[in-house]
Amino acid sequence: MTLTLADLLPLSDNPADWDTAACRGDEHPDRWFPDPSESFEYAAGVCGRCPMMSECAAFAAETAQSGVWGGHEYRRGKAIR
Ligand code: SF4
Repeated sequence: MTLTLADLLPLSDNPADWDTAACRGDEHPDRWFPDPSESFEYAAGVCGRCPMMSECAAFAAETAQSGVWGGHEYRRGKAIR
């Protein structure tokens, strides 16, 4: 079984909410963890149509995540672009 980005998302108070994550099942989970010189346009575009954007961004900030969350790229919980 191949893990997707959404499989790595945290369990929330209502795990069913994460079932609606737009990145669930995406074939390119690596796009959410770009190298500093790489564009994150692909991931941001998927995030842009996700109903979990605000919850996802809040989780990234609160738990010091890195990568693309809620349409922005974070490094240790700080939005860098
Ligand atoms: S906002 Fe982006 S990273 Fe977060 S669950 Fe939605 S698609 Fe996935």
